[in-house]
Amino acid sequence: MINRESIQQVIGRTDVVEVIGQFVNLKRRGANYIANCPFHNEKTPSFNVNPAKGIFKCFGCGKGGDAVTFIEEYEKFSFTEAIRWLAKFYHIELQETEVTEEFKEQKEVEESLRIINDYAAQYFHNNLSDNEEGQIVGGQYFTERGFNKEIIEEFKLGYCLDQWDAFSKSAIKNGFNQELLEKSGLVKIRDGKPLDNYKGRVIFPIFSNTGKILGFGARILKKNDHAPKYINTPENELYVKNRVLYGLYQSRKAIADSKECLLVEGYTDVVSLHQGGIKNVVSSSGTSLTEGQLKLIGNLTKNLTILYDGDAAGIKAALRGMEMALAESFKVKLVLLPEGHDPDSFMKENGADKFQGFIEKHKRDFIGFVLETGLKDAANDPVKKAKLVNDIAETISKINKTEDFTIQQYYIRKSAADLDVEEEGMVNLVNKFIRERMNFEDRKNKREQQKEEENTEVDGIPEETQEDATNLVNIDHKEEWQLLKVLLEYGPKPYEEDTVAYYFFETIDTELFQNPLAKTMVLEYYNYWEKQEELPELSFFVNHESKSIRQKTADLLSEPFVPSEDWNKRYKIEVLFGEKIYEQEIASTFAYFELKLIRKLLQENWKQMKTEQSQAQIEVLMKTHMKLKEREKGLMMIVFVR
Ligand code: ZN
Repeated sequence: MINRESIQQVIGRTDVVEVIGQFVNLKRRGANYIANCPFHNEKTPSFNVNPAKGIFKCFGCGKGGDAVTFIEEYEKFSFTEAIRWLAKFYHIELQETEVTEEFKEQKEVEESLRIINDYAAQYFHNNLSDNEEGQIVGGQYFTERGFNKEIIEEFKLGYCLDQWDAFSKSAIKNGFNQELLEKSGLVKIRDGKPLDNYKGRVIFPIFSNTGKILGFGARILKKNDHAPKYINTPENELYVKNRVLYGLYQSRKAIADSKECLLVEGYTDVVSLHQGGIKNVVSSSGTSLTEGQLKLIGNLTKNLTILYDGDAAGIKAALRGMEMALAESFKVKLVLLPEGHDPDSFMKENGADKFQGFIEKHKRDFIGFVLETGLKDAANDPVKKAKLVNDIAETISKINKTEDFTIQQYYIRKSAADLDVEEEGMVNLVNKFIRERMNFEDRKNKREQQKEEENTEVDGIPEETQEDATNLVNIDHKEEWQLLKVLLEYGPKPYEEDTVAYYFFETIDTELFQNPLAKTMVLEYYNYWEKQEELPELSFFVNHESKSIRQKTADLLSEPFVPSEDWNKRYKIEVLFGEKIYEQEIASTFAYFELKLIRKLLQENWKQMKTEQSQAQIEVLMKTHMKLKEREKGLMMIVFVR
């Protein structure tokens, strides 16, 4: 965890134009900058950067926010990853919150391993060009696979010389610690002497989401029955298998854009598909997907398509872990490649277009596939079939999110028919598995909840719910946003006897806010004021730790003051806006909010009048009615012209 001060320091130092300018060709226009939007396709620029407010906003696709949001969106980073990126960009050293000795030590080891990995990757990569054996043996392997220079560069592929300690010697000469070299998996110690662990192998560096090299996959070239085909980095402080996926760094944008992640078995499959132009592909390095790896993919898309090269062992390995994917609401599809082909060979023979076509044509859903292969296997064996019914029911029971209900029903019907069992029996069986698991998870959750309560989340602010534009509540929200915009932009400006903010909280009942995010922001404003005894600057919201607030602020600040169309329609009134000085904008916005309240009161009053029996009481209500009407008229005089 990065501590709060560090985050603020990074955000404070960040210049939105400088940062976005790293990725987008910005052109100055007046006080702002414009460009073609990097988030959607366009020919005329609608992407705006406002340096004074520290925000960007695309009027084409609607994306907007501060520099941190930009990095998050552009690089597909988490908030923390974005802060780390910015810290590196501005050479700011981040302070971590948990600075126990143990934590510090772990961080130091991590950092040392990272430096070793960087060095090793470069060393192995250079072997391909600087060393004769590297050129001939390593280079030839990649040439045979058809890898070109650019792709070898992009994936930083390399070769470890077929000598006992060429790398070890070089690393130690360069001052690397022998113990850490052993920990990195690059070196093994025999009789006190360091030897190269990846001797005579080609090297596939494995990158983190942000491009750090976490470890390596090393493939043998010579035929040797006693040595494993691949050696992977052992788990250490830096390389945690559960948190890495080969190819994710190079593929993450294509996965997000295409809204689909292809899963293949091998490193070479990933590289080969990339070179051919299919870039939304990762590999779990031949083993089944873990929960952590699924999460990495799930951040980008929930559509997972597995490419298999037909052999039974491969299928079984990849099928494991897929139930977990179903439980996490992934839409899991399978594509079986023609016999004798792996993704790499199939790509070479057919090219990207045909490959893509094949995937689309042969994509099949996961459960249907399991059902079919299971039935083939069970044939006329009743014991096997009973087991299959159970297995399928358990698999279906994993699809258990509310939004996936219809999918679950579909599978129950389909499998009951295919397995030739009663649908009701299948439903009962599925429910049995769900109940069992719920009981188990209930107990587990109770334990975890206690733990969580101890370290509460910072960013618990609700996202604004997407609502129908015709919904009245939504229309009301629009006016709340208008009010908030006034507060944010003009809060400290003089108004009446005091400031706009003072007048705001004097006259407006914050309880009237219906939109949860708008309400949160108003209260944030008030609480800051109360605590700090000064009004929050705009930057407090622009750089707020909550992403929802940052984004909303950018949206609000990018919009001109536009009266809600509804004011006109609902109240048959023209609204004065545009070239007016801010006092008038404020007066009209405030008055409108009050007007809304008055009209609500009028309505309630009217309802009472209709049912009231006592004449005296009716008179009181009538008087109230007149008073409210008068105030209504007064308010309309302030703001509106007929
Ligand atoms: Zn856009």
